[in-house]
Amino acid sequence: MKTNLLLTPGPTPVPEAVRRVLAEPIIHHRTPQYRKIFQDVSERLKKVFLTKNPVYTYTGSGTMCMEASIVNFHSTGDQTLVVEGGKFAERFTKIAKAFGLKPTAMKVTYGEAVNPEAVREELKKNKDIKSVCVQLCETSTAVLNDIKALGKVVAETDAILIVDAISGLAADRLETDNWGVDLVIGGSQKALMLPPGLAFLSVSAKARQRVDTANIPRFYSDLRAYEKGMADADTPWTPAVGLVLGLGKSLELIEQEGLENVFKRCADNAAFAREKVKAMGMELFSKAPSSTLTAAVLPQGIDGKKLVKVMRDEKGVTFAGGQGELEGKIVRMCHMGAITRSDLEEGLRVLRATLEEMSVGSK
Ligand SMILES: *Cc1c(COP(=O)(O)O)cnc(C)c1O
Repeated sequence: MKTNLLLTPGPTPVPEAVRRVLAEPIIHHRTPQYRKIFQDVSERLKKVFLTKNPVYTYTGSGTMCMEASIVNFHSTGDQTLVVEGGKFAERFTKIAKAFGLKPTAMKVTYGEAVNPEAVREELKKNKDIKSVCVQLCETSTAVLNDIKALGKVVAETDAILIVDAISGLAADRLETDNWGVDLVIGGSQKALMLPPGLAFLSVSAKARQRVDTANIPRFYSDLRAYEKGMADADTPWTPAVGLVLGLGKSLELIEQEGLENVFKRCADNAAFAREKVKAMGMELFSKAPSSTLTAAVLPQGIDGKKLVKVMRDEKGVTFAGGQGELEGKIVRMCHMGAITRSDLEEGLRVLRATLEEMSVGSK
């Protein structure tokens, strides 16, 4: 099978060096050998999260830790303010509702970043808000939110700031401690260059105070079980051993390049993608573009669903289409993780050619 060039916002391509580790024989997790590796990656993850707080590794997709960030830090009936400017934000609202919280959606026009002052106003008006949920990069719209400014706003209150950085982590800058972010959620299959299956959660001291009084039932994701495990370089349940070994390698790749250089590469490639999209006569969907991915508004008359399908099935390049109300209207391409400039050039070349064919075909 010809390999497809994956430019989707997860899963992203897994580098050869990581794949080689993933192919190694499995080891047992209740062993000194595994504990040493797990302790080591848990420490090194902190350098990617830019935090001194513990970073917990869960087995599950990113949503696992979105759920963990709700159930471990809230009680039934708690109010949470969800910055809702896209599909992933809406997931926070759904999870909060599922566990009996009272989410208030702060609606943000798709394609725009939240105004931190509006969040400040809302928190001033309503002192019962226990948390603010927001995406670093809202992957459905390619919007980057100003987490630094939101960190300042939320730090002045008793609320905690919960940031879904599943796509943005290690692509868009996020300074967890310096910016006062309480919970940061990550996932393995985006800029961390691994297959899906691991979710991460960093927890500040302010957030930790909530855990023992939070009354939402939980078991698999109970933070206290993970803390107990971590004290012994262990996890409560069988970890995804292979992925944790692979993580050691992907962190090594990030360390070798240097996190600052990773941010810069993603920013440069994002600028390149934006320039090319505009040169093709398309507009950018995001008014606050991220370095994680770029969303292009398709020309009138182009069926975006068909475009993505033709590119994937006939030309071996996978872009993501639009979700929800954006279905068929935009395409999204990533520049995070192991995606290189030449991957992007290839993807954009195929995009241009396919758009030309489709517009000729429609005449
Ligand atoms: C991919 C993504 C998720 C969902 O993660 P899963 O691993 O599919 O559970 C959540 N939030 C954002 C911003 C994402 O990009």
